[in-house]
Amino acid sequence: MQQKRITSQQALELYQSSLFCELGEQAGQICRQRHGDHVRTYVIERNINYTNVCSCRCSFCAFSVSPGNSQGYVLDEQAIADRIEPLVQLGGHQILLQGGLNPDLNLSWYENLLQSLKARFPKLHVHGFSPPELIFLAEQHEITLETLLDRLRQAGLDTIPGGGAEILVDRVRKIISPGKCSADQWLNVMRQAHQMGITTTATMMFGHAEILAERIEHLDRLRQLQDESLNRQQNDPHAGCFTAFTCWPFQSGNTRLGKRLQQQNDLSEKPDLKAKGLQTHDFKTAGAFEQLKMTALARIYLDNFDNIQASWVTQGPKIGQLSLLMGCNDLGSLMMEENVVSAAGTSYKMELNQLRQLITEAGFTPIQRDCYYSRL
Ligand code: SF4
Repeated sequence: MQQKRITSQQALELYQSSLFCELGEQAGQICRQRHGDHVRTYVIERNINYTNVCSCRCSFCAFSVSPGNSQGYVLDEQAIADRIEPLVQLGGHQILLQGGLNPDLNLSWYENLLQSLKARFPKLHVHGFSPPELIFLAEQHEITLETLLDRLRQAGLDTIPGGGAEILVDRVRKIISPGKCSADQWLNVMRQAHQMGITTTATMMFGHAEILAERIEHLDRLRQLQDESLNRQQNDPHAGCFTAFTCWPFQSGNTRLGKRLQQQNDLSEKPDLKAKGLQTHDFKTAGAFEQLKMTALARIYLDNFDNIQASWVTQGPKIGQLSLLMGCNDLGSLMMEENVVSAAGTSYKMELNQLRQLITEAGFTPIQRDCYYSRL
């Protein structure tokens, strides 16, 4: 049965008026129609953050430090290779390579790194460099995105992760990350990559300065670009598209944004200040309940995305497992190492056995996949 596309208004009403279980059941049914009842996948991948030095300093980020800060680091090729060895021993060949916008690293540094890693690990798949990193590099060298992507691909870049999307609405971006690329720029990187036959993924980080309609606008912009990319694929089978979507709630610990939003809450609790018009809106960090609802809504709304990936890094393995019954066909990555969310005070880790066990307990057969979602 063909899934009927819903409008933004319908998505809004669905999220606001559906019972939790009804929304989950609807998303689960769509997932079963697309992916069957038996198999749910996972990927053995390692997250590697090659630098924490960043000139952007988004207010929601507890991971980065400013250029010149004594806590700043850059991993050299050997340090990165040392992290890949245990991955290969576990049967994985994929790394998620991301870092800050570090003005001390030029394009040659990236090219040399990719070439050396590929020479050392010929089967390595590099899922690397989110749109903000790519825009920063292109601007630093005054070259087009096409030239940049071409050079990085030739050096060994395989696919591009969807980091740095947060909420693809400029009103929100100006509040939480004024130094970062705009929504259009983020989408343009993905458009350019798809045109060149590079596949990418998409993400959303929610639960901070946005309203529900803006989360849906984010989904809508992704759906529109995916329509465009899939149409291109009809004439050019080598063109790329988004392979998957995943989302997670903002983790406020140790972040300037968390402190700011908390201060606004404190103000709103004081009637005298409220009377002076100092109250803004009440901030509540989104948790597991909203994570599951948003994931289910994404499965329903993103009818042109094959894969919706569970995110367990902020809400824990059991919530990731539950997502498999509410629209997700994939439990995501083993990660092996996580530095960004843990810097904000949230830290969950899983062993491979545990990840497979969660899929089995949910009633499915766990199968390892690659970055293109082909089963291994
Ligand atoms: S989220 Fe990325 S771009 Fe923003 S401050 Fe952190 S490392 Fe830099």
